[in-house]
Amino acid sequence: MNHMVDAPPRELDLGVHWRHGFASLGPAFYTELPALPLPDPYLVGLNEPLAQALGLDPALLAGDEGVRALTGSLAIAGTRPLASVYSGHQFGVWAGQLGDGRALLLGDLDSADGAQELQLKGSGRTPYSRMGDGRAVLRSSIREFLCSEAMQGLGIPTTRALSVTGADAPVRRETVETAAVVMRVSPSFVRFGHFEHFASRGQDEELRRLADYVIARHFPECRTSGRFGGNAYAALLETVSERTAALLARWQAVGFCHGVMNTDNMSILGLTIDYGPFQFLDAFDPNHVCNHSDETGRYAYNRQPNVAYWNLFALGQALLPLIGDEETALAALESYKAVFPRELESCLRAKLGLADAQEGDRTLIEGILQLLAKGSVDYTIFWRRLSQHVAGGPLEPVRDLFPDREAFDAWLLDYAPRLPADRRAAGLAMLRTNPKYVLRNHLAELAIARAKQKDFGGVAELLAVLQSPFDEHPAHEALAGFPPDWASRIEISCSS
Ligand code: AMP
Ligand code: MG
Repeated sequence: MNHMVDAPPRELDLGVHWRHGFASLGPAFYTELPALPLPDPYLVGLNEPLAQALGLDPALLAGDEGVRALTGSLAIAGTRPLASVYSGHQFGVWAGQLGDGRALLLGDLDSADGAQELQLKGSGRTPYSRMGDGRAVLRSSIREFLCSEAMQGLGIPTTRALSVTGADAPVRRETVETAAVVMRVSPSFVRFGHFEHFASRGQDEELRRLADYVIARHFPECRTSGRFGGNAYAALLETVSERTAALLARWQAVGFCHGVMNTDNMSILGLTIDYGPFQFLDAFDPNHVCNHSDETGRYAYNRQPNVAYWNLFALGQALLPLIGDEETALAALESYKAVFPRELESCLRAKLGLADAQEGDRTLIEGILQLLAKGSVDYTIFWRRLSQHVAGGPLEPVRDLFPDREAFDAWLLDYAPRLPADRRAAGLAMLRTNPKYVLRNHLAELAIARAKQKDFGGVAELLAVLQSPFDEHPAHEALAGFPPDWASRIEISCSS
């Protein structure tokens, strides 16, 4: 009798071809190491459309072996897990070496949107973990999973999330929580901090190699545009400044607070990255600080645009050895100051349904933002109701949001004549600009509470709705309502 049993598979073949662009930079940029397995992982959420876009079989991923692979508990054939090294400024202070303390890059896959890197987050300690345990908790992993896809649904540049898986292994934060892993997806996970790392050590050769890699892979036009007399590194800084400006305009317009805009959390592609203590504004408050650990309010909502410039300045300083002179670097950074206000105004004009730019638009925009702040009016609900009104709905639902109705009426007297002749078309366009659904803190909290009881229905429901946040989804109306009173007492900190 044959007593041999099939050995469990040592790796899973996902049937796709992996490339290793980042690994080609060489060992100065990373340490290769496997993920540390978590016992008995379970699927919390799977992003099927993204799986399909990557050529991955959702059914395979959702199976036992797939879930173990998504958790880092079973190796994936063809991958080459590595933790990259970076440094950065945290809360305005140079923090020295950081790096992927709990993330592993697996390699990249071809997709319709070009090469996409896959990265495990929460897959165990790495040489860059410092005091950390290399893990992520279920709570923050669900937040990252959902918010990545919420941003994507809103059309805001972001890293994506393929899956979130959990395990009952305890992870100590303020209380004991459980472990989870997010499989993140992005054309690149390179941060400003990667450049700062090599610049701070005077490793000019590695600095150049990294810049050349980013340019070749993502911004080849920097080599050929002839900008800055053919200085490709200045063109790179300018491109990143423009992209970051466009991103910040989108954040401000939708009411998104990132919460930890450290330079190591800034994407070189201008994507939203590292979802931690983020928040979509409930009541409009320009001074809102969403990160409970941010005692000075450095990353308050209305400070984000300036912080982004500060971070770009740090990137410019890091690129200085390549750019050559300070004047050129400063000139490249100037684009931020030009692009951000232009983009923000254009976003807000679209939110108001104004087809063309006219004098007085800024007054109109500032006027409504002041009224929203003064009345602590719910930001998302205001824009949605205004859109519905312009599309032909009644005025009262918008007007009733304002404690000072007369002040709103006065603003309306200036606004209404500015609307295009075809108000219905303008209103319909506004409904595609002003989302009905955003991932408010309390919505995430409710889905997390259910997930802790192993009911992942709330995560699936939010994922489906947030992937098309401009649609009505009448069956999910409750997700579009005012936040409950307890929402203002939710405290989200850096602890994740
Ligand atoms: P963050 O504030 O989440 O952007 O993290 C800042 C740095 O700390 C990065 O280098 C992270 O990889 C690292 N880090 C955060 N949490 C952990 C953890 N639990 N274990 C190891 N490293 C961590
Ligand atoms: Mg980070």
